Amino acid sequence: MDLYEYQGKQLFARYGIPVSDGAVADTVEEALAAAERIGYPVVVKAQVLVGGRGKAGGVKLAKDADEVRQHASSILGLDIKGHVVGRLWIEFASDIADEYYASFTLDRSAKKFLGMLSAEGGVDIEQVAEERPEALARITIDPVEGLTAALCREWIAAAGIPAEAEDLLMKLYAAFVDADADLVEINPLILTADGRVHALDAKVTLDDNARFRHDEWEHLEGLEKRDPRERDAADKGLQYVGLDGTVGVIANGAGLAMATCDIVHEVGGKPANFLDIGGGASAQVMANALEVINNDPSVKSIFINIFGGITKGEEVANGIVQALSQVDISSPIVIRLDGTNAEQGREILKGYESDRLVSRPTMVEAARTAVELAEAAR
Ligand code: GDP
Ligand code: MN
Repeated sequence: MDLYEYQGKQLFARYGIPVSDGAVADTVEEALAAAERIGYPVVVKAQVLVGGRGKAGGVKLAKDADEVRQHASSILGLDIKGHVVGRLWIEFASDIADEYYASFTLDRSAKKFLGMLSAEGGVDIEQVAEERPEALARITIDPVEGLTAALCREWIAAAGIPAEAEDLLMKLYAAFVDADADLVEINPLILTADGRVHALDAKVTLDDNARFRHDEWEHLEGLEKRDPRERDAADKGLQYVGLDGTVGVIANGAGLAMATCDIVHEVGGKPANFLDIGGGASAQVMANALEVINNDPSVKSIFINIFGGITKGEEVANGIVQALSQVDISSPIVIRLDGTNAEQGREILKGYESDRLVSRPTMVEAARTAVELAEAAR
């Protein structure tokens, strides 16, 4: 789960990381009230889960109430790379002497943490990594040993940033580990004109697998403006990711679901989603999956791709038939059933086939038919 900048900063503040005094605002009036309390100058910042807000006009300095009003009304409702701004973060403006970059993330191949630090912050860090990799000081941290003060000092020296950053970086590491984050990133980490090191931006991704030990994440969830389809699927316990195509995809197993999306692309179509119903294919799970797909207005055809393993083909087929009787489906369905007892399964489906429900023996044929049906329905 990705956090908004203000949520990331609130998390940082709990670990003693210096951030500016600020407040959220959902209206121009709230922005004004926040600025009056904080004192001028302030920065008006779009809260969207996408980077590069500054370049897109989503970060503006305001020296008085008039400018707050002006910037708040222009940023609220602004579309930043497809994310419409519904919330602002107003904070006291910092006087910047220098901008750096700092992050902790996972190095999955090394099974360790990776720290990255650079004196060249504020800009697109991917560009720095590509053009001047020597400007990015990397350390791998053994999760058992943790980040020692000695290693932290070495790292700071290698990056060529002020020694004052040590305290902040140690706290950032503590926050990263303790909060079960996959990523904490500060860009820019700044040196203020009066010599303090300070987090000016915050990007935090929490590890969803650690949810069970973080009751405090509950309130973060409510704020997240999720794709309504994804919310619906999550409520039903399905592994679903919304995409922007027209072929609804249902498969059992994450690998098969990905392969199904790929093959839809391969034959010239676009999947409307990724959906893994997991092992087995009980009538109830299938009905839930069909319901989520059916509620998506952009879906024009549905591709059910099931490989029977432990769950036998006839059970899968019976599950699909039962599910179809529970949900009133508005798009044509193409089924590819393979694996254990596939023949028996297809035999069952035969009794229900029509121009709205077709069965195809291979993935590629099924994908082609699903894409044709989606095209025909446009
Ligand atoms: P991003 O573009 O989404 O990464 O948003 P940031 O929070 O990183 O802000 C973008 C840029 O705005 C920063 O790199 C700064 O140059 C500038 N900025 C943000 N906050 C302040 C501030 O308090 N004072 C000044 N002078 N500039 C700021
Ligand atoms: Mn930034």
